[in-house]
Amino acid sequence: AHLGRIAAVDARVHAFLHVDAEGALAAARAVDARRAAGEPLGPLAGVPLALKDVLTQEGVPTTCGSRILEGWRPPYDATVTRRLKEAGVVILGKTNMDEFAMGSSTEHSAYGPTHNPWDLDRIPGGSGGGSAAAVAAYEAPVAIGTDTGGSIRQPAAVTGTVGVKPTYGGVSRYGLVALASSLDQAGPCSRTVLDAALLHAVVGGHDPLDSTSIDAPVPPVVEAARAGDVRGLRVGLVEELSGEGFQPGVRQRFEEAVALLEGLGAEVVRVSCPRFEDALAAYYLVLPSECSSNLAKFDAMRFGLRVGDDGERSAEEVMALTRDAGFGDEVKRRIVLGTYALSSGYYDAYYGQAQKVRTLVARDFAAAFEQVDVLVSPTAPTTAFRLGEKLDDPLAMYLNDVATIPANLAGLPAMSLPVGLSPDDGLPVGLQVMAPAMADDRLYRTGAALE
Ligand code: GLN
Repeated sequence: AHLGRIAAVDARVHAFLHVDAEGALAAARAVDARRAAGEPLGPLAGVPLALKDVLTQEGVPTTCGSRILEGWRPPYDATVTRRLKEAGVVILGKTNMDEFAMGSSTEHSAYGPTHNPWDLDRIPGGSGGGSAAAVAAYEAPVAIGTDTGGSIRQPAAVTGTVGVKPTYGGVSRYGLVALASSLDQAGPCSRTVLDAALLHAVVGGHDPLDSTSIDAPVPPVVEAARAGDVRGLRVGLVEELSGEGFQPGVRQRFEEAVALLEGLGAEVVRVSCPRFEDALAAYYLVLPSECSSNLAKFDAMRFGLRVGDDGERSAEEVMALTRDAGFGDEVKRRIVLGTYALSSGYYDAYYGQAQKVRTLVARDFAAAFEQVDVLVSPTAPTTAFRLGEKLDDPLAMYLNDVATIPANLAGLPAMSLPVGLSPDDGLPVGLQVMAPAMADDRLYRTGAALE
């Protein structure tokens, strides 16, 4: 049914870069065989899923939305992919994304943008717009995204779906093509909070193949999603993340949802996190720095594309031609920025300062969590904007991430869930819940209460 739905709508939505119909049907049959053999199966066995094209799946093309990886078929599964397969999840295909996960609109994909199913002239968010759109358009009931600065949560907000960035280290990064290694985290996209929890429980947990993986059990996310009880929960409303710059319709739906939490027995207080105002600037130094280093491996020798290799040119020339042809403008912009920020003489002034701000953001969170159990804000300042609207203005695009970035800088878990349609334009609005490290269950508890 889902392959049929993809065939019917994906020419317009363009959520997928690659549909693996054969592999999906084989996986579904394998689950049937396991069931027939009386094997005990988990709740996601046989459930179709869309996988963001930044996670490897053995033998299936993985492009990260970039030309530079064209033709690359990874010889191994990411840990997330392997765990999905073991749980009997049926992987339908790989979803579209901003190139190497850089962007907030999926317009930076080398393979063309994804369209928001609510209004095809609008962006589905980014970088994981393909995963969110696939879920919103009923092409897949659940999907996996990755979130470095909001790429699971902001697409969820603008497509009316649920998206969760787990605690940093809660889900293995093995086989996740790195954007910024100290920020990246894979997580669930779904239609309901419980579906997200079930997926989180399957992909999460310790992995010796990732040195930053936390050696502790997955927080009790499924139990929390089933309970959904917020009585006595202390909810902090982040003052810096709901005022100026946020659309009136977004603020209205957000405030109504907070009032609902209060009505359900939560205790709502206002909390100030003053350094959140510097988080965006710090992020856009830390991220380019890390990605300029991570993307150095795409050197025309090891993966995918190779341009100008005529037997005469030097390796350096081939490398330069390949990187020029293979990377898009946004990727080049960030490589240049990051290389500059890390260069001798500038390191202390830029990267060093940004790391200090990062510590201050983490301290703001720590102080806030002495008073409250969770923090809330709108997920994004606006509803889905029009395709092309911010494409030529990188700064306007970056400003979209103002509410999502603090959680990445501090490594904390955060969720976006739909809280209705904006009265301004009838488009979905997302509410963000943030929690202390390894208290991911509080996101589900809060989210399920609001659902
Ligand atoms: N929009 C952010 C950026 O462009 C988020 C990226 C992400 O989370 N992968 O960096």
